Amino acid sequence: MLQYLVILLDDTSVSYCHYENPKKVKRLISLSDLKAGILFAMKQNLMIQFVYPDYEIPAEYQKEIETIDHHKIAPQKIQLKNADVVVFNSCKEFSTEKTEENKDKIFVLRANGKDVARNVSTFAHDGRLNIIITDIETFTENDFSLYKETLEQLKNTVKEIFLQENSPQVNLLTDRILLEKMNNCNAGIENITLAPNGKFYICPAFYLEDENDTVGNLTNCIDIKNKHLYKLSNAPICQKCDAYQCKRCVWLNRKTTREVNTPSHEQCVVAHLERNASRNLLLDLQQLGAWEDKSIKAIDYFDPFEVKDKF
Ligand code: SF4
Repeated sequence: MLQYLVILLDDTSVSYCHYENPKKVKRLISLSDLKAGILFAMKQNLMIQFVYPDYEIPAEYQKEIETIDHHKIAPQKIQLKNADVVVFNSCKEFSTEKTEENKDKIFVLRANGKDVARNVSTFAHDGRLNIIITDIETFTENDFSLYKETLEQLKNTVKEIFLQENSPQVNLLTDRILLEKMNNCNAGIENITLAPNGKFYICPAFYLEDENDTVGNLTNCIDIKNKHLYKLSNAPICQKCDAYQCKRCVWLNRKTTREVNTPSHEQCVVAHLERNASRNLLLDLQQLGAWEDKSIKAIDYFDPFEVKDKF
């Protein structure tokens, strides 16, 4: 069931996930489509996530946005005071500084694997940090090894913060410890995107890749072809997998395997390296008396497709 509506306020709205936004020309959603999108969300009882560009939007748009419960996702560059999610688009941009203003905000850091590896020692953040690796689909065996080392370093950083009696949350390591079942992105099932052209898309990445890849509009509503393929119940291996923190990104799936419900080897290995690093963190923290009721079993594979006969 749909729960969220993502509204891209502009063609240049910041990416907060795996996809890049190559658009440089501003195209703001029309005020009438913004109003219609808000009305649609009200009728469907959806929480809206407004995604901001890196310039100040007109006051009448801001006024309209404040008429409904919502979350704001904004690039760090514009320093939007009341943003709920702040996106840093590289490790260079990233700062863990916690001011009174940003102490409750979620930080999203988008960077490629090598950039993350080079800078991981600077990620000591005691709030919520979501790290998004932007080049998973090109990972080689060397990249997997480097990522494993990166996660080990990040694990030690997170442990240090725990020892200072703080409660850090880093999606790559702490989500798997806390989850009891799959918690994937669920684009097309739990969330849908309204683009600046007034049309619906599975997610922002589908819009940015091909504007014709629409799944409806504000007049005729949403019509997703083969909707069942987006569901976990139609992803036989993912259903049995216990890398619960995996995004199971349907856009990456389609890009790499041409099927929205079939993940690439790279996506699975990365998710399992995170799962195993989460297990190592859990074991370390349990020695300190934390999370004793949790467990993550040891496994001997990195890609569930390679052991599918066991499932
Ligand atoms: S790791 Fe692979 S099999 Fe497991 S949920 Fe993610 S995409 Fe599916």
